[in-house]
Amino acid sequence: MVLLLVGGLLVLGWRVGVAGRVARANESPVVTTAVVGDVIVGAAAAAEPVAAINAPVLVDIALAPAAIPQTFVGHKPEHSFTIYRVERGDTPNGIADKFGIQATTLLGGNPLLSEESNLLQTGVDLVILPIDGVLHDVQPGDTLESISEKYGIPVETIVGYAPNNLEFPYRLYPETQILVPGAVRDVFVWTPPSLESVRGRSTGSGVTPLIVGTGTFIYPVNSRNFTQYFWYGHPGIDIALGEGTSVVASDTGTVTFAGWNIYGYGNLIVINHGNGYETFYAHLSGISVVPGQIVYQGNVIGATGNTGNSSGPHIHFEVRINGAQDNPCWYVGGC
Ligand SMILES: [Zn+2]
Repeated sequence: MVLLLVGGLLVLGWRVGVAGRVARANESPVVTTAVVGDVIVGAAAAAEPVAAINAPVLVDIALAPAAIPQTFVGHKPEHSFTIYRVERGDTPNGIADKFGIQATTLLGGNPLLSEESNLLQTGVDLVILPIDGVLHDVQPGDTLESISEKYGIPVETIVGYAPNNLEFPYRLYPETQILVPGAVRDVFVWTPPSLESVRGRSTGSGVTPLIVGTGTFIYPVNSRNFTQYFWYGHPGIDIALGEGTSVVASDTGTVTFAGWNIYGYGNLIVINHGNGYETFYAHLSGISVVPGQIVYQGNVIGATGNTGNSSGPHIHFEVRINGAQDNPCWYVGGC
């Protein structure tokens, strides 16, 4: 009877097969049933066997929230942070140096900051973490494992940070915060106005400000002096060149933003290409287009500069597809 059960389950998948091997090693029909039962209950607690089979079998429940919460009361985290009020002229690196942390840790304590587009405005209060990492707001359903996976930091590292007050069985409390040592937070992404917001606006020429690009992209400047490439913490490419150099539209489209951007881009132009793509041209010294204007691939739209969160004359160029930042090098023929 038991052998039939195990044999039948074996055809359902490899994972159940593992359970079957464990059962045979124990050589006890009673244990066999218990192991298969444990696997199903522990893996998914589902009434439907198919769902249980799709779930992992080798479950380590040691790090899950307490099985019987009513009988266990843990300690909530006890963090102590420094609050720093941004002064005129502050930069991310300058503030980080002041406290002996990395600039990315400013993001770790302040979710709305990012390196390229930042909220480092005079008078804003920043949370300064005591060590490099991310301060994670515990959400319902979070587990140590899910937090570990989210930031790519081992569970032991999180548990090992004493102020997190994590002790077996590692219960997490919503509305508290866990410091994840060494983690780096996702960067804040500023979203320009959608094309809809300029639809119908008069451009003064009676032209409807909607056009679809060619789908090909050209370099916005002649220089290939790359100073920063697309990576996790930088959503575009930086190309250094002298101030006042012509910037051209990478493809045909409609200007959706042209002006000063408070999130670090400085003087910024955004072109919506009407096909899901948008291109960004940042830190400009001059802007020669207006929102709602149609531009064609290769048209001069402005001039390079050193405005916003910029440490030297360069252009910051972004390509977004359906709002998601993508590597511009893939579109302009390599970098
Ligand atoms: Zn940049």
